[in-house]
Amino acid sequence: MRILVTGGAGFIGSHLCDALLAAGHDVIAVDNFITGRRANVAHLMEHPRFTLVEHDVIEPLDIEADQIYHLASPASPEGYMRHPIETHLVNSVGTLNLLRLAQRSGARLLFTSTSEAYGDPLVHPQPETYWGNVNPIGPRSCYDESKRFGESITMEFIRRYDLDARIVRIFNTYGPRNDPQDGRVVPNFIMRALRGEPLPIFGDGSQTRSLCYVSDLVRGLILAMERDEARGQVINLGNPDERTVLELAQIILDLCDSPSEVEFLEKRPDDPERRCPDITRARTLLGWEPTVSIDDGLRETIAYFRRYVGQDPRAILD
Ligand code: NAD
Repeated sequence: MRILVTGGAGFIGSHLCDALLAAGHDVIAVDNFITGRRANVAHLMEHPRFTLVEHDVIEPLDIEADQIYHLASPASPEGYMRHPIETHLVNSVGTLNLLRLAQRSGARLLFTSTSEAYGDPLVHPQPETYWGNVNPIGPRSCYDESKRFGESITMEFIRRYDLDARIVRIFNTYGPRNDPQDGRVVPNFIMRALRGEPLPIFGDGSQTRSLCYVSDLVRGLILAMERDEARGQVINLGNPDERTVLELAQIILDLCDSPSEVEFLEKRPDDPERRCPDITRARTLLGWEPTVSIDDGLRETIAYFRRYVGQDPRAILD
């Protein structure tokens, strides 16, 4: 098949491209490099079935494909708060462009939404039926609300035009190719632990995160695209193995064999207290669940990040 991956030079997108190429497909990655890195796809540039198109999906595009994975969007708080308008636009206008492309070309589409669509949840763990608790005007709203808009317009195309589309709400995912500088908990803690710097914890560290290793997530995305049962559905993908941020810091310090200590800082606005996916739907519809343990996933990720220790931060950008 010919498969279009928007955001294909990003963290998750590049792993998805790897998996789709390994399965024998032709892959076209579209990216404008607003948060992606050329290094993520450097190993694919000579691949005969891989094409990289530098394009901003806020502008219409005309690429024939059998399947469209729409991953383009800044994803880290650092990324979307630096590019709030671009984030609004890629998840709204960008999603509309891809829905229209899917409609024109008869392609199947998967829109990647986020657990942030649940905001600071009052229901725990979060099932897909929960409508969320989002601050519509807070500093994170460019991301949360534009993803919610993206979901809404995707559902409209499903209802109105019977488009073969599905929505996946991705929960925190980590692994090699995470941007070492994007401030998310795993890359931030690992880089600091490897450099012997203190690990910042906002609040008392009792807030929880559930971390999914990238290979598990990519397997889930492909199943959500391929399974007919997923058509028209919204599906959580994430790892229900919930840990406190303090516990994560401790595991990373141990695995890095680091002398660093934790440093408690003031809590950040709109930082969710608890995050844990209810993956009953993914289990039932896709037969999917994560298999990589936190220790194994972190070991792989730490091995990847070691190459960046001691590097000039500007060099990491590429
Ligand atoms: P990432 O920033 O590494 O990748 C996103 C990619 O999209 C980047 O390469 C970026 O340059 C590209 N992009 C952004 N705007 C674009 C535009 N207008 N046109 C073309 N390309 C554009 O982030 P990621 O972690 O790989 O996230 C991928 C998707 O998964 C995002 O949609 C994100 O919202 C979603 N998601 C990720 C997580 C996570 O934990 N990583 C959690 C929830 C949802």
